[in-house]
Amino acid sequence: MQSYRCWAEVDLNALRENLAWLRHRVGPEVKILTVVKADAYGHGLKQIAAALMQSGTDIFGVANLAEAHAIRSVGRGWPILMLGACLPHEVETAVRDHVMPTISSVAEVAAFSATATRLGKLVDVHVKVDTGMGRLGAAPGEAGELIRKVIASPALRLAGLYTHFSSAEDDRAFTAAQRHKFAALVAQLRRDGISVPLIHACNSAGVLHEPKSFSNLVRPGLLVYGIVPRSRRRAAVALQRTLRPALTWKCRVSLVKKIAKGTPLSYGHTFVAPGPMRVATITAGYGDGYLRAGSNRAEVLIHGRRCRVLGRVTMDQMLVDVSRVAAVKAGDEVVLIGRHRAREITAHDLADWFGTIPWEVLTAITYRVPRIYKGASAA
Ligand SMILES: *Cc1c(COP(=O)(O)O)cnc(C)c1O
Repeated sequence: MQSYRCWAEVDLNALRENLAWLRHRVGPEVKILTVVKADAYGHGLKQIAAALMQSGTDIFGVANLAEAHAIRSVGRGWPILMLGACLPHEVETAVRDHVMPTISSVAEVAAFSATATRLGKLVDVHVKVDTGMGRLGAAPGEAGELIRKVIASPALRLAGLYTHFSSAEDDRAFTAAQRHKFAALVAQLRRDGISVPLIHACNSAGVLHEPKSFSNLVRPGLLVYGIVPRSRRRAAVALQRTLRPALTWKCRVSLVKKIAKGTPLSYGHTFVAPGPMRVATITAGYGDGYLRAGSNRAEVLIHGRRCRVLGRVTMDQMLVDVSRVAAVKAGDEVVLIGRHRAREITAHDLADWFGTIPWEVLTAITYRVPRIYKGASAA
């Protein structure tokens, strides 16, 4: 750690415990698809995939085929569901790499069926139904027809049926309407004698709020990394208490200065010292993913004290107020996300200062920031 300027520490034990608590929450009958898209929410895909394989994930969810490939490189045999739509030119690679595609349209059925037939492969597919997200998925009225087309193709096997909640954290009524549409389709298929091995709807917010929608598979992302989505609905409190953020983000003090009243700071002089102050330059900026929206608002922890960002965040450095921190000096650690003594800055805090959500805070941390793994690692 000593040599880094700006780095993230990822606690693989926290990740393992989080998965264990999720298992506890959903019970032994429900499988868990851990979502590891976007470099495992910025935690580092390969290391996270290996840790999740060791701790009993059932399936992985990815956004593209490169992510699927990275998972295969650390362990074979785990099913992988591509959550995004496959582009026409990706179909062949998906088939060859045994990545399960998400199917929303008749055109996709035709493309996968033709390619799988040509390659002599059998492809497991998940059909998606749009119950109100408005992104991927067939309309509920068209899903039955789509499913029949999948079943009719000798090269395709119906492995799953799923939908996605748009507002499970806030809107109980709309989520219930989504659940009912989905349940009606599942019931109709059952009446028609069509059985689907995996039925799933719940993202993290669904895992917290929608136990009726667990079916036999859930798809948590954020919760796996130990962050509980904020909500206006009352949630499964046990999870809120037990999950632990896996990621800590740090940088260092590089210079400490005294400045006089009236001294303007950083680009555009958006901050002018109201009195004499002590200011530290620290080694993180928007080039590391610390968003410029945090200018003059965000706080960091130094020696366990909260210090406010002064003036604009720049590409590689920013300034913070250390007037009340005794004995701060170049080389000292600064916590951007994480705990120091009794104080903590969470991804939610940063999201509030940045005007965004924890998902974006985590995935914004750039490649320049090395991820350092704690807890037994494998990959
Ligand atoms: C990203 C994603 C998830 C996970 O969402 P979280 O809110 O992070 O739990 C689940 N399902 C689908 C389809 C997704 O795209």
